[in-house]
This record gives sequence, C-alpha cells and structure tokens, in this order.
Amino acid sequence: MEEVGKVTYSRFEKDPNSEEYAEVTDLILSLHRDPKTRHGLVYIPRYDVGPSDKICLAIEPTISFLSKLYRPFFEEYVHKDKTLVERTIEESLKNINFQDGKLFDEKSKDINTKLGLTIVGKHEYGNGSYIKINDKSPWRELYRVVIHETGHALHYITFPYVHEDKNIMDYDSTMQEVMAISLAERTFRFVNYSKDPHKKAKELINRLKTSERFNKTQFHQRWWQFLHYFNHEQFEEEYVEKWEDEEEIMLPSS
Ligand SMILES: [Zn+2]
Repeated sequence: MEEVGKVTYSRFEKDPNSEEYAEVTDLILSLHRDPKTRHGLVYIPRYDVGPSDKICLAIEPTISFLSKLYRPFFEEYVHKDKTLVERTIEESLKNINFQDGKLFDEKSKDINTKLGLTIVGKHEYGNGSYIKINDKSPWRELYRVVIHETGHALHYITFPYVHEDKNIMDYDSTMQEVMAISLAERTFRFVNYSKDPHKKAKELINRLKTSERFNKTQFHQRWWQFLHYFNHEQFEEEYVEKWEDEEEIMLPSS
C-alpha cells in the first residue's frame, strides 16, 4: 500500500539539555491508498502518543463521509475517470496537523482564527490543515473542525471545475466560509459564530434553509452552485434572495 498523507500531532517540548522549548511532531496516522477498500483510501495508526485516541476518533469517519458527499459531484459535473474522487479526497486529507493549544495559538497569532486553519497554495506555514487540540477538546468537536478545514481544502481543489482560470483568493472571505460551513453542517447543524466572516456566512446558509425548495436540493448540487459565486453580496442578491422569494436561479456564467 502506498502512503499518500499523514496526520500528525505537534506540541512544545522542553529540551532537557538546553532548557529551551522546541516544536516536536509525532506521526499519529498515515493515509494509504488501498484499492481493496470501498473508498480506495485507509488510515493506518502509527504511534500511540498524546491524544492519539481522540485524534483517531475524529479522523476515521472522514473518508467515508467525504466520499459519500462528493462522489455524486464528480459523477454529475466532472465525469472524468472514476478514481478522481478518491484522489481529490486524498488531496484534501494529505496533511492534517493537530497542534497543542499553546503551539497553535503561538503559530497562528497573526491569523484570525481560533480552532483551525487550512493553508492552500504556497505559504511559509506549509500546506495542509492545522487544528487546535487541548486536553479537554471533545473528539466530536475535533471532528467538526476537521470537516470544516477539509471543506476549505475541497473548495480549493474543486473550484477550477467551474472557473478554470481563477484563483482561490478571488473568493471573498465570506464565500470561503460559506463553502466550509456548508460542508461542516452535514455533521453539526447547531454551531453559532459570533464574528464575521463566519457569522455572515452562517446567516446566509440559514436563510437558504428557510426555502423548502432549497432543502430538497442535494449537497453536491449546492456545492456546485455555490462555487459560481466569488462575492457574498452577489451571492446574497442573486442566489439567497431568489430562493427566499421562490424565484428561478440563474447561475453566473463561468
Ligand atoms: Zn473556515
């Protein structure tokens, strides 16, 4: 089996010789390609360190969850070879790093985030998803953050199927959160956000859910449609309000 990604846990640890704190990283799970499994991917536990039980619980359901939601997206809109969905999910889960609270707060202090962040493209931080973990973090909360951050990665990977020559940064921060929250909502419906852009993104999603017609659409159809909007004001006027008023939706041309 071929290793294609890893889940790690990092923390600060004091070097007994120098008394200085350094970042230490352990491998918790490694992601492998396994054609024998239904989803073509499998996580293999590595080291039993730190909060590995909780991390395994939070990570293990993700492959089947994502493959169930995104397979229809590829079947309906992308039609390339059948392994593309596996490769896409593999790409989104390739590097997940859980960081002890102190390390996370220190490393992300210039970035506006509390629980997790996902880096796509070139960045000094390194590509991947970073998730804060404390002794008290419940695994279900970690699972929600994993799914939310993976939503950002999947946004990055899937938008070129709609807009070939655009950049992820063409999406405003609210639209980026609309994508991630719409995925995370499949596991956790009742999360409230106190600050923008998450708060505004969640409000737009809540408004959509007041439309009975919208509620009948499937996740992969929503994902495809959301990808058409870069600007949340345009999304609000030309998409959310149309559903609220039961009017026809005309997706912007890509
Ligand atoms: Zn987010």
